[in-house]
Amino acid sequence: MTDDPRNFARLYLSLGMAVLPVHAPVVLAGGTRCSCGKADCRQPGKHPVARLVPHGLKNASKDPTTVDGWFSAGRYNIGIATGSISGIVALDIDPRHAGDEALARLEEKYGQLPVTWRFLTGGGGEHILFRHPKDRKIANSAGALGRGIDLRGDGGYIVAPPSLHICGRSYAISVDHHLDEVPLSDLPSWLSELLGTPARRKDGAKARPRDWRAHVVRRYAEGARNDAIVRLAGHLLRARVDPRVCLSLLASWNKEHCAPPLDDEEVVVTVRSIAAREVARRGYRHAD
Ligand SMILES: [Zn+2]
Repeated sequence: MTDDPRNFARLYLSLGMAVLPVHAPVVLAGGTRCSCGKADCRQPGKHPVARLVPHGLKNASKDPTTVDGWFSAGRYNIGIATGSISGIVALDIDPRHAGDEALARLEEKYGQLPVTWRFLTGGGGEHILFRHPKDRKIANSAGALGRGIDLRGDGGYIVAPPSLHICGRSYAISVDHHLDEVPLSDLPSWLSELLGTPARRKDGAKARPRDWRAHVVRRYAEGARNDAIVRLAGHLLRARVDPRVCLSLLASWNKEHCAPPLDDEEVVVTVRSIAAREVARRGYRHAD
């Protein structure tokens, strides 16, 4: 695939994503500036082209003719609208703010992220894409999962390959996580819980009572323990079990079913963070 943005746009469209034209850096004698022309542009190479999409993200399109027209009109960067419109959510890992270290800590605690689509950003970071869970909104957030990790969900967008970053490097599809070669993964259950969305089975159905019965009697080894506790805490708290009761139950469950058991303090921190998110979720969904 050449680095013609139209080829990439067609690939994204073929996978059900909506795209939009975004300004690109332009190299001039006096240095690099944003194609919007403003010398003091605050988001060089990252904001929608107002001339083509006056309503920004709202004008993101899946129509091949419209999209082809945009990227034939000039050399622009490509934005992909995230959220249910494109069926994706993206983790935006920024190593300049230690996002790579924060991600490594999450993976150490909850288990490795599944293989899924990944874009390398021109700024040295990474966009890790997951399937949107469809049954609810995924809010955009900055730093909620850890410093340097942003989440792009409904109402957000990412700058995508082969866009050019202001530093001069191009965004690229990660060769071993290519859209043509690996499947788009569902959100791992622990990540889904941390985002305040309930765990779903791989086939997209909600976990059934007998899945929970199987889940609660198993034993969990290192690498799977945190995920198991996160899921159970989410299950109990969504059923309106008092957080302190939940903590007490899971503290005992940990000793019985985790080999070796997690530190008590870790169970406390996990249950507290899920409880805080559950409270926030109830506020958001009103009287749920
Ligand atoms: Zn600009």
